[in-house]
Amino acid sequence: MRSGTAKYKRDGECAMKNPLFDSYPITETMAGYQPVFWKNEHYMSFNPDDESWNLKMSDILEAEARLARFSPFIEAAFPETQPQNGVIESPLVEAKEMKQHLNEKYNVSISGAVYVKADDRLFVSGSVKARGGIYEVLKYAEDLAVEHNMIAPDDDYAQFRSEKFHQFFSEHTIVCGSTGNLGLSIGIISAELGFKVIIHMSSDAKQWKKNMLRKRGVMVVEHEDDYSKAVEAGREMAIQDDHSYFIDDEDSVPLFLGYAVAALRLKGQLEAQGIKVDAEHPLYVYLPCGVGSAPGGISFGLKQVFGDAVHPVFAEPVQSPCMLLGILTGLHDGIAVGDIGLDNRTIADGLAVGRPSKFVGKMLEKHIHSFFTVEDAEMHALLAAAHDLENMKMEPSAATGFPGPAIIHQHPEAPHLSNATHIVWSTGGSMVPDAEWQSDYEAGKA
Ligand SMILES: *Cc1c(COP(=O)(O)O)cnc(C)c1O
Repeated sequence: MRSGTAKYKRDGECAMKNPLFDSYPITETMAGYQPVFWKNEHYMSFNPDDESWNLKMSDILEAEARLARFSPFIEAAFPETQPQNGVIESPLVEAKEMKQHLNEKYNVSISGAVYVKADDRLFVSGSVKARGGIYEVLKYAEDLAVEHNMIAPDDDYAQFRSEKFHQFFSEHTIVCGSTGNLGLSIGIISAELGFKVIIHMSSDAKQWKKNMLRKRGVMVVEHEDDYSKAVEAGREMAIQDDHSYFIDDEDSVPLFLGYAVAALRLKGQLEAQGIKVDAEHPLYVYLPCGVGSAPGGISFGLKQVFGDAVHPVFAEPVQSPCMLLGILTGLHDGIAVGDIGLDNRTIADGLAVGRPSKFVGKMLEKHIHSFFTVEDAEMHALLAAAHDLENMKMEPSAATGFPGPAIIHQHPEAPHLSNATHIVWSTGGSMVPDAEWQSDYEAGKA
């Protein structure tokens, strides 16, 4: 059964009780659009040699080295990255006022410091997708150029801006399915390199994202169905053309590794700020989850870098808790939120995903500490508070991680909480047009 959105009705209008409710009682609460917390029963100590990790630290280091090779290109193509020498990285900022706000709002007393990893401010495409999406396109461009003897790894990659490369890439097409932000990141970098780009989007994707892409010469194909259908359409189309390369948000190793590099960068930032991380001083990292690639890749990197000293916690909208469902039941992409009657309709762009990535779910099922879900109104309220208290501009999805430090304190079985550092991963926002952002902000104030 593929995800049925309209078929199901809210509030117990379904005549028959869903058998999942007996096997997994929490799903009945989820089916009522109620926020939940689930401590992952499969959570285990991390072993880097476990064969479930068929990717290794060396793969992440290789991805980081590739990004370094491309930094002269990035610096020249996107001058805003000059102060960081062509490295696309976000700041790690302490959020003292927000911590106080969370204490009051949720009536808890958070013991450690609360930081925000501000991917909303990432250069080039203003969301976490600037990590994985850009990395995968760069890797493909490098693979093509090496294959055609146009470049060697020691050369100056600023050449990727030359007419010769542009001309060459214009004979190749990059295709992807996206709810918005992945399309933006892939569209912007691909167009800069000279690729033809086709982005398949669900028709409810934000108009400004479609406009921004079309302005850059990207072909945007709109689909009436949900996100999974848009991805499928993209995949089908790419298969038929051998000059097409399909970026598969549900199942892509390069995308995943591009996200994982974040962990190496975060390690450096924590050291620079003198923040101690070890088993007695753990990191709790709160990651908004859509299909799972971004939070999954980041978690994989974090586990490789910090082992048992890091506890990834995934945050999803109450309407779209797809990864929670997939890991709870062990069914992965064999279950969708429609199967418990949820409609997958949330304001959280990027998180409105009904069916999780099987690749990510299988890889991380034992390494995500816990899950929680958040209502749209809560995201709006937190987005507004983050603006008023910390001067942050987030999109609703990006605020999903904020309840994390409070929720974890309501479940004190979490290890070494008193010495923990909390990192809320803010996944997008700076590119949202002001008028659009303003209406989210006002919804949050109301
Ligand atoms: C895509 C996205 C996410 C989640 O990433 P997935 O790889 O889909 O899990 C979170 N926040 C924002 C703003 C996004 O665009």
